[in-house]
Amino acid sequence: MEYVSTRGAAPALGFDDVLLTGLARDRGLYVPRSWPAVSGEDWKGMAGLPYAELAARVMRPFIAGSAVESKFDALVSQAYAGFRHPAVVPLKQLDSSQWLMELFHGPTLAFKDVAMQLLGQLFDAVLEARGQRITIVGATSGDTGSAAIEACRDRERVDIFILHPKGRTSEVQRRQMTAVQADNVHNLAVEGTFDDCQDLVKALFADQDFRDEVSLSAVNSINWARVMAQIVYYAAAALAIGAPERAVRFTVPTGNFGNVFAGYGACQMGLPIEGFLVASNANDILTRFFASGAMSMEGVTPTLSPSMDIQISSNFERLLFDLYDREGGAVAQAMKTFRDSGRLDIGQARWRAALELFEGFRLDDAGTLAEIARVWRETGELIDPHTAVGTAAARAKAPKGAAPTITLATAHPAKFPDAVEQATGVRPDLPPFLADLYDREERYGVIPKDVELLKAEVRKSARIKGAAA
Ligand SMILES: *Cc1c(COP(=O)(O)O)cnc(C)c1O
Repeated sequence: MEYVSTRGAAPALGFDDVLLTGLARDRGLYVPRSWPAVSGEDWKGMAGLPYAELAARVMRPFIAGSAVESKFDALVSQAYAGFRHPAVVPLKQLDSSQWLMELFHGPTLAFKDVAMQLLGQLFDAVLEARGQRITIVGATSGDTGSAAIEACRDRERVDIFILHPKGRTSEVQRRQMTAVQADNVHNLAVEGTFDDCQDLVKALFADQDFRDEVSLSAVNSINWARVMAQIVYYAAAALAIGAPERAVRFTVPTGNFGNVFAGYGACQMGLPIEGFLVASNANDILTRFFASGAMSMEGVTPTLSPSMDIQISSNFERLLFDLYDREGGAVAQAMKTFRDSGRLDIGQARWRAALELFEGFRLDDAGTLAEIARVWRETGELIDPHTAVGTAAARAKAPKGAAPTITLATAHPAKFPDAVEQATGVRPDLPPFLADLYDREERYGVIPKDVELLKAEVRKSARIKGAAA
């Protein structure tokens, strides 16, 4: 499978290069040259498969030509062996037409594990095949960092450095990163904000010599392989509820649009998905877009669902690419307009095309607490604040009698215990494997916002030195 950049001016690459590269050289995002078509018969044949087998089948066209093609099934099976539910992503029925898909049974209790656990396997295998090593440096406000650390811990060919803003993540989130005892994992608390952490990482990537020196790489949400791995659970849910004969809808708590774009991919692969509810918190750039056809930038507001506190949804560019008939030049121009003016109007025809599949929804913090309380009262389920934004959207926008609606439960309630307790009076327990999290020893360095100090830290600890692989 070949991948092309959404901005049309970077070389087309195969899967392995896209995995290791992340962002394209023209600053676009990689997408498959065409979506693999899967027939109704083929989908039918996949219904009922164990998750890892389904995953290997769904993803196989995307990795065609990879150096690890022959090992792929085994890598997928290892990636999902550590999930703490035999179904990996179990479905729960809430009422006659509403379902929850629990995506939080991985090691860090959030849906990002579903993709990251596979990425860790793929990184090591591809690097081994190439005889290379990489150094991953990333910034996190919480969930991404821990999922990346769990995916990369103890990997032979990867060293990982994660920067978090000192004192500004939740305690569960911090401990999930800093209590990991692995020689290749390095946590750095930056004296500053999440934006300061991101600025530091950007400054590292801007230094080409340093990039080469340590073979710098990233695991951020624009990596195509993460989208690919997320397509699978849309297929799993749709097949379980009756696809290909019966159509379904999804509600997706959204930040960077990565998760919901994966659903769009499942739809392009022929699954009967009627539509997506794109559920946002107070950071509602997408809600405003679907209401008006124009994107406009505003500041970030901190909310009870912090993993959705974003200013711009970076993966939205992948959808724009299709809305602009896959003309990279037009997307590059549109993105430039957006950067320069903070506003992009995509025009009536494209907006209408987007509305055929997507609908926006917004919920503030008061609504989120009320929704957590309602779901607890009516169904006995404790849900986290991100998931609550989704179930509220499903209830508001999917009337009874519509196609079955599946809301993606993106985090375990115990990851955000304060909000859940405030809403219900019940403090959710961490699952047994994390019950001693608060007793585990933490290990992290503290640095000021200083890129030279960061480079020194990376040089000191990364196993790759000088030898540009
Ligand atoms: C990352 C995250 C989201 C948002 O996912 P996107 O792919 O950025 O849209 C939602 N909920 C939780 C719990 C997350 O960690």
